Amino acid sequence: MCDLIDKKVIIYGVGRFRKDFLYIFDKLNVKYSVTDNEQLVSIEKKVKYFKCLEKENKNKYVVVICEYSKENAINNLENMGYVYKKNYWNAEDLFQELDKKYIQNITEDLFGTIDYLFFEKIRGKKLVIWGTGNYSSELINANPQIKIDYFIDSNLKITGKLYNGKTIKHPDMIQDWKNIYIIIATINYYYEIRDYLIEVGLKENIDFALYRTALHSPFKTQKPSEMLIKTIYDKPLKKRNCFEPFSHIEVNYEGGMCLCCPNRIEIPGGYLYKVSFKEAWTSIVSKIIRLSMINRTFSFCNKNNCPNLNFNDEIMNRDTIICEDDYKMKQTLYPEHINIGIDNSCNLMCTTCRNKIKIANKEEKKRINIIADKLLEIVPYTKTLVMAGNGEIFFNESYRKIWIKNENEAKRDTIYVISNGILFNAENWNKLKQSYNNVKLTISVDASTKKTYDRIRCGGDFNKLIKNLKYASMLKKSGELKFFQLNYVIQSLNCFEMDEFVMMAKKLNADRVYFTRVMNWGTYSTSEFEKISLFDNNDIIKDKYIKLFKSNILKDPIVDLSFLYNFTDSNGEYIIKKIVGE
Ligand code: SF4
Ligand code: SF4
Repeated sequence: MCDLIDKKVIIYGVGRFRKDFLYIFDKLNVKYSVTDNEQLVSIEKKVKYFKCLEKENKNKYVVVICEYSKENAINNLENMGYVYKKNYWNAEDLFQELDKKYIQNITEDLFGTIDYLFFEKIRGKKLVIWGTGNYSSELINANPQIKIDYFIDSNLKITGKLYNGKTIKHPDMIQDWKNIYIIIATINYYYEIRDYLIEVGLKENIDFALYRTALHSPFKTQKPSEMLIKTIYDKPLKKRNCFEPFSHIEVNYEGGMCLCCPNRIEIPGGYLYKVSFKEAWTSIVSKIIRLSMINRTFSFCNKNNCPNLNFNDEIMNRDTIICEDDYKMKQTLYPEHINIGIDNSCNLMCTTCRNKIKIANKEEKKRINIIADKLLEIVPYTKTLVMAGNGEIFFNESYRKIWIKNENEAKRDTIYVISNGILFNAENWNKLKQSYNNVKLTISVDASTKKTYDRIRCGGDFNKLIKNLKYASMLKKSGELKFFQLNYVIQSLNCFEMDEFVMMAKKLNADRVYFTRVMNWGTYSTSEFEKISLFDNNDIIKDKYIKLFKSNILKDPIVDLSFLYNFTDSNGEYIIKKIVGE
């Protein structure tokens, strides 16, 4: 196959397939293209009628078929004596070449929902699941590629029996605790099991973890060959365009570098823990994602999470090239916008986010610093830095290292700070001012009274927060702070204070109040979450909460409820959008 890449190539096909193929295989030495449609011969200088192949020296060139339907091409070539995989190839045969390097970067030849870091964690250990109930089967179904050694269950009635073909052992039977990694597949007994395992000398999140924590990764991985087939064969959307992946990156805790928000494009271009920024930015996966913008298929975009996409748009014929010139687009040297959320450590433990204080341990810090150092190489060259998607920007050392500019460095352009506000003080403001021309600030508050604040944002200090909000307000009024937003995650505990919150935000000169809904990041059991969410399991707003959105205060121009627009009432009406009058 590599021989083929070194040879001169003639492409059989002249449509979108060829354009997409050559965008990815841009190093091929292409002599010209052929078609069996005589009318298309004159459209481009380097397009000939396929009969010219009769005169070519078959040993000097190879033909690559870039057609959706290959039958005609194959017949024509074989009638002229061309032999498959000797003188001609299907384009798809080359796609597997793309997988080889990518697999090395991912560390394991495994693709699925499992976090690659998980395999590093369990290397050399036996993998054991504690629990043989629903969660256990959910875990096995979602991750068929994991190899389980045995199960643990304290129910004596099932000791020694088989579950999913593996033995169920009672905890008293385990001798080699140090040589196993345990995924706890139960929520109700998690803390009980955790205490037991700590007592036998194991460490949480090192030797064992709750199944969601152990396996959950916000990222998906997919073979480049499969991605390329998907986007080449998907159909384009007529009216949309988006070039976000040419200018934007978001880097999260796992070090996965996504070319859009990870909720919208879940496949990272590369893992910064493993590869350099340049390798991730120019990786084959990044290139294929960019191709899906150029060919307008948006094959890897999550349509539910992206306001730019409307999949009800007119879908074009597969061969349609929406804009020929876009195929000339390449990535720039550095992205214009970087959004960083690599360190979960935080001075608070909000009930919506975690159930204990999280501070990176030694191992995590080592990994975070590797990623931070790679980001530091590019941050000075970007236009907008957004920090921090998770963890607290003013609390984490790794973040301070990134957002405070070096003495010798020129002032940076713009930072968009997302903080819980407890450490937003004069000292940190001065550092921001020295480092950036423009500072934009978002503070997550989630309450308008001390009582509610204390229930939700554990570890916080409402009085201190108010003092810091007033300081931000003063900076906004003086024009030093360019933008000031307050965030509010709505749930049953705070939903009756929304009006009060908007009034407070107006007094504080906020530009925007952004309301979102509470999500379950694994801190609530299903029944707890059902109680605190304003929405039912089908994402339909519960009747008793509809009236809250009828308040006139929520129609104030500073209020942004757009996050909630896509949710409906039980009649299927986009009720919040309708009430607010958008
Ligand atoms: S998800 Fe939306 S914003 Fe992101 S790249 Fe796709 S179209 Fe653009
Ligand atoms: S302040 Fe933000 S990062 Fe910290 S615990 Fe609360 S929600 Fe999580």
